[in-house]
Amino acid sequence: MAAIGFIGVGNMGGPMVRNLLKARHRVTVFDLAPAAIERCVEAGADAARSIQQAAHDNDIVITMLPAGKQVREVYLGQQGILGVARPGTLLIDSSTIDVATARDVGAAAQNANLPMIDAPVSGGVGGAQAATLTFMVGGPEAAFVSAKPILATMGKTIVHAGNSGSGQAAKICNNMILGISMIGVCEAFVLAERLGLDRQKLFDIASTSSGQCWSLTSYCPVPGPVPTSPANRDYAAGFTADMMLKDLRLSQDAAAATQAKTALGALAARLFEAFASAGMGGKDFSGIIELIRSSAG
Ligand code: NAD
Repeated sequence: MAAIGFIGVGNMGGPMVRNLLKARHRVTVFDLAPAAIERCVEAGADAARSIQQAAHDNDIVITMLPAGKQVREVYLGQQGILGVARPGTLLIDSSTIDVATARDVGAAAQNANLPMIDAPVSGGVGGAQAATLTFMVGGPEAAFVSAKPILATMGKTIVHAGNSGSGQAAKICNNMILGISMIGVCEAFVLAERLGLDRQKLFDIASTSSGQCWSLTSYCPVPGPVPTSPANRDYAAGFTADMMLKDLRLSQDAAAATQAKTALGALAARLFEAFASAGMGGKDFSGIIELIRSSAG
């Protein structure tokens, strides 16, 4: 049994905490939202009143925060994790953030004698609840080996992608594929509508042909073929278009910084920007089919 501090217990962090508790770890949680803390306390966690309380006397500290800005504050700020954790505490950041912040915070942790990995996840809220997340890990081998059993209580697939920041690199590359492929699937369904092709027929054929992909078979953007997809509940998220846009922007920033040419990634970012600007950012990202349908002329 490990003593774990967990900071950021929202949609993803909350269910991850519940799986750590099920595995009989002692978990102390902190969040800016008292209601999020309360839900974890009801599940058996201890409440902390500050980052310091959650981080200072634990074997492991895990963070699941919105973006790089919060990760910098929580780790590097006054009374932040690096200033209060005892030497040797294993630090795991599972937020999806930019590679540069992950590397900066990882280097600062190493200087403070604190082993740290970036370990963003794929699998969404459903994966967090079912403990089937995929963890993409960047950081020193020894820290990866120590973290693996803990990550295994919250996920199913755990891959060491490379040195510090490599987990975030893998995450933004994966989500760039996801954003582009969802738009491709949406365009195919809109074209099928124009051609008078039945959506179920397109699904039956494409899902067993070379057009098969996760956007089609798990998050099919039209109602019917995949009963669990957000299209069947008016595009209630799921994975919001705002989150997709955040990840596409991260991939575009990384592409600019490394002079990689990602023309489709850039176009996908622009389309999701237009969708979010139309007030649809809180909808599931598969709802972008409505933008594509309405701009089809
Ligand atoms: P969320 O907004 O539900 O949870 C984030 C929590 O962090 C909130 O409860 C917020 O109050 C808390 N927080 C913010 N700043 C804080 C601070 N300074 N100190 C303490 N707590 C603070 O978001 P989420 O959906 O749980 O996503 C968390 C991360 O996981 C994001 O980086 C997101 O990109 C990533 N992610 C989300 C999904 C998904 O489907 N929701 C899937 C994969 C990855």
